[in-house]
Amino acid sequence: MSVTIDNRTARGPRARAAREPGRGPATFTAFGLAAEAAPLAPGLYVVATPIGNLGDVSIRALQVLAAADAVLAEDTRVTRHLLAHYGITTPLVSYHEHSNAAVRERMIARIGDGQALALVSDAGTPLVSDPGYRLVETAVAAGLPVVPLPGASAALAALVVSGLPTDRFFFEGFLPAKAGPRRARLAALAGIPGTLVLYEAPHRLADSLADMAAVLGPRNAAVARELTKLFETVRRGSLPDLAAAYGAEPQPKGEIVVLVAPAGEAVREEEVRATLDDKLREALASHTVKDAAALVAIESGLPKREVYARALELSRAPAGGEPG
Ligand code: SAM
Repeated sequence: MSVTIDNRTARGPRARAAREPGRGPATFTAFGLAAEAAPLAPGLYVVATPIGNLGDVSIRALQVLAAADAVLAEDTRVTRHLLAHYGITTPLVSYHEHSNAAVRERMIARIGDGQALALVSDAGTPLVSDPGYRLVETAVAAGLPVVPLPGASAALAALVVSGLPTDRFFFEGFLPAKAGPRRARLAALAGIPGTLVLYEAPHRLADSLADMAAVLGPRNAAVARELTKLFETVRRGSLPDLAAAYGAEPQPKGEIVVLVAPAGEAVREEEVRATLDDKLREALASHTVKDAAALVAIESGLPKREVYARALELSRAPAGGEPG
């Protein structure tokens, strides 16, 4: 069975006329079904690919990979495996971190000539700790359409299962490999008011966690390993506990994201609790216990029940004396 999927996803005004002579219709296969992808408008398509589980690729990504004139790949062997899995025969061209301006200009010229090029990295979203920024920059400067094909990225996958705050986060990527520069970088990150998301190599994990514990202190953290793969694990704990655990165990295998809770979450709460009595006494001077507790709970962000219980204790204490 064969289905045709309309593939007019690019924003460029020009529709592609025909594929290169000699190439058959653009097709891919999934679940034993063959699908035909309609031609693409010219442009640079930035395509996210799986970070482990080959099922984590979008249908639209498959369409684009099948219909593109070429797939620019960080490592053509890795991407060939993905394309083969989905029966895609689009030619692969190497594009990696050492590709120079001349290579980029050639790619830009191809797009200018009406071609659709898909950029992928070995895994996840290109440009995220992966090559591609210079190519996108050059395409943008040339006024060419750049189209995102969103999908997997280890940073977000790890963040959402970490159990750490997700309202604000800071993606750092890889820390320096050497201890001195690593500690200096961590010191620079210490004040960031969001969860830190870091990529780390397994052989550096224990040292890196020890440096994080030393520089960032006893914050909550998580180590997410082999996400979407057979040995997926997420280990949560304080930085000192995680550093001690990984320091005592054999080196872990696989790919790792480290996440560290924002500066001040624990500290801020401690500070707020330390000033709670003063705030409550001030509020109790002119409000009922209920109203004083409600006001201070809003102001401090502490749980209403906890603030009310303390307000009650303070209101019952003899003037000048400490409640029990
Ligand atoms: N562009 C990719 C992305 O969007 O996630 C990241 C590329 S970066 C060169 C590779 C690093 O990402 C690994 O060293 C690891 O820190 C992290 N990573 C990639 N896949 C992972 C996975 N399945 N589980 C945990 N971390 C992963």
